[in-house]
Amino acid sequence: MNADQLLRFDRDHLWHPYTSTTRPLPVYPASSAAGVRIRLMDGRELIDGMSSWWCAIHGYSHPALLRALTGQAEQMAHVMFGGLTHEPAVTLARMLVELTPEALDKVFLCDSGSVSVEVALKMALQYQQAVGHPEKHRLLTVRGGYHGDTFHAMSVCDPITGMHALFARSLPSQLFAPRPECRFGAAWDEDDLAPMARMLADHHHETAAVIVEPIVQGAGGMWFYHPEYLRGLRRLCDQYQVLLIFDEIATGFGRTGTLFAAGHAEVAPDIMCLGKAMTGGTMTLAATVATTAVATAISAAEPGVFMHGPTFMGNPLACAVACASIRLLLDSPWQERVAAIGRQLRAELEPARSLTTVADVRVLGAIGVIETNNPVNLAALQQFFVEQGVWIRPFGRLLYLMPPYIIEPADLSRLTEAAVRAAAMVH
Ligand SMILES: *Cc1c(COP(=O)(O)O)cnc(C)c1O
Repeated sequence: MNADQLLRFDRDHLWHPYTSTTRPLPVYPASSAAGVRIRLMDGRELIDGMSSWWCAIHGYSHPALLRALTGQAEQMAHVMFGGLTHEPAVTLARMLVELTPEALDKVFLCDSGSVSVEVALKMALQYQQAVGHPEKHRLLTVRGGYHGDTFHAMSVCDPITGMHALFARSLPSQLFAPRPECRFGAAWDEDDLAPMARMLADHHHETAAVIVEPIVQGAGGMWFYHPEYLRGLRRLCDQYQVLLIFDEIATGFGRTGTLFAAGHAEVAPDIMCLGKAMTGGTMTLAATVATTAVATAISAAEPGVFMHGPTFMGNPLACAVACASIRLLLDSPWQERVAAIGRQLRAELEPARSLTTVADVRVLGAIGVIETNNPVNLAALQQFFVEQGVWIRPFGRLLYLMPPYIIEPADLSRLTEAAVRAAAMVH
């Protein structure tokens, strides 16, 4: 198929994320990717500013990841996880148990981030029933969050950007506190936690768990908030016997400058969700890691098991490449790389602040955000970026960069230049 034929069939038959089949936005045919470059079928190369949605932290086609993948494919691409186990799953679980906070000890492997959130929420509900509190059946979160697109995950996404009205009749109704307002790096104001404290005081008797994205709210608004909020939240959850779930699917594996964002607050949740960068962007894989206390309580009560079991649970290919990706990360100077990207983003995005079209510029770890006053014209900006030789995909009023950690300063400058020029165009 040539590019035209491919695009025609795509337009007629394929859904893309959040798109219409009758008014499709343009898509660009990619043919290969290596390092920080995505190559289009017409030969153009784009510098990747997105890491394919937080995933490709080592860049594309990294030989160590390809070796892990092909090596495992020759051994055993997949076997069911019911009644069987294997080295890739065990090695990965050992790494996750070691790297996550001390008390997180029991690993549930699944296919995607949304499923790992479903699993975490089910664990919380089964836990509360198991410890004799079936009335604690709702979930509490903050506005501005994003936790995935399946139904229960969607129910704890921001009600506006998560389009709750559209699904109101089928969607469980959850509890929402305002978004934390104290910024990361600014002074802490104790009042920031007050609305959450009031919500818990009023609703703890019906609340199974609080779920939040620690420090960085991603797809819900690219917002960075104060670590003290998480410390206060941990105290409140303990006080009211409500479980605390951290969704680290976007923030995990170094993106914010610590291995997990929870590390900024030195707070441990009862359940943690991981995904995205876990396989370095090569395979879909996620994990839900729970404390022994949660797992033991679930296992001690009726029906004596945790009720979830995906067909592709613990897929050996995905686990093998996750092990290789985590090893690659830990053996690399990732902290210096993330810090250097952060410094450069801060210096080169800062000039956008003076633009009349720009509301805010913020940087944390290897994440740079330009918030515009008005929503971007996605199709027009996408075309502009491709013409500039970069791959940046804004949403809403957010132009943001989260490049692979291996990006060189010159390539990063191409991204920041394009982003700042684009920000001036958002009228
Ligand atoms: C992407 C994301 C999810 C959903 O993961 P999928 O793999 O897309 O299902 C959940 N939570 C957060 C914080 C995410 O960024």
